[in-house]
Amino acid sequence: MEKIKLGISSCLLGENVRYDGGHKLDRFLKNTLGEYVEYVSVCPEVECRLGVPRESMHLEGDPDSLCLITTRTRQDMTQRMVKWAQRRVIKLEKDALCGFIFKSDSPNSGMERVKIYNKNKKPIKKGVGIFAGIFMAHFPLLPVEDERRLHDPVMRDNFIERIFALKRWREILKKKETRGNLVDFHTKHKLLILAHSPRHYQMMGKLIAGQKSISLQELNRQYQTLFLESLDLKTTPKKNTNVLQHMMGYFKEQLSIGEKKELLEVINHYRLGYIPLVVPVTLISHYVHKYDQPYLRGQVYLNPHPLELQLRNHV
Ligand code: SF4
Repeated sequence: MEKIKLGISSCLLGENVRYDGGHKLDRFLKNTLGEYVEYVSVCPEVECRLGVPRESMHLEGDPDSLCLITTRTRQDMTQRMVKWAQRRVIKLEKDALCGFIFKSDSPNSGMERVKIYNKNKKPIKKGVGIFAGIFMAHFPLLPVEDERRLHDPVMRDNFIERIFALKRWREILKKKETRGNLVDFHTKHKLLILAHSPRHYQMMGKLIAGQKSISLQELNRQYQTLFLESLDLKTTPKKNTNVLQHMMGYFKEQLSIGEKKELLEVINHYRLGYIPLVVPVTLISHYVHKYDQPYLRGQVYLNPHPLELQLRNHV
């Protein structure tokens, strides 16, 4: 697989583009995740030719009609930024990004809870940065996060799982489009989908079962929407436990009573939050290889992203 292309706010890569000439380097994003992705760096304020250093700015108004105002000289930069952002998102279409990591709190790059100042100079945290808002409206199903949310292990796991899943989907679309390729893709992703959304699992199963009644193009379109929607819903210990127990059912014949008891105990300890997900998944993977279980061997759920990122190691 080629490297995954991800958009990112430039200051998170350590580029000295902030209003004060500094940066906000995030080492996990640059060094660890950077091993697996190719970043497309975007600094709205620099690309809008506001220079470095520059006057700081903030959002004013109400959440539905925001203004971008410089804090000292009170220049209104809204139209300039909006026009640039509308052109920039069209250019970004060519990059086929699998997601975007925004800088939190920024009046241009923040994706949520950005401060909006009212006449009394009291901020409320309800804003979306100008560029981030235009980006998310243009690419509504694309995975997006900010660096602060990515410090949460659950959010991080979910975001990285989604960008790898989207990349695999894009690779399938690059191949000759056939119904067989789609069915194969769906088969491999079934348990991953189930871990995110049992409802989408049902809907996608029905879509695949009734596929012959719609054109392949429409089938791909509907499938993509459901696939991305499903992965946007977070996994939980309860949903993962359901998947783990489902997988255990494939070894009814092979496992001894003692092995079944041990596996059930490991799954239960995971459900109760005593051990991380990687433990039952590793034990099941061991049985998958030992007993050569072909359906489970193909399941992306067992290996959705590189082990080195240690994403399933949290409790
Ligand atoms: S937060 Fe956004 S606009 Fe500000 S320096 Fe970083 S990339 Fe540039």
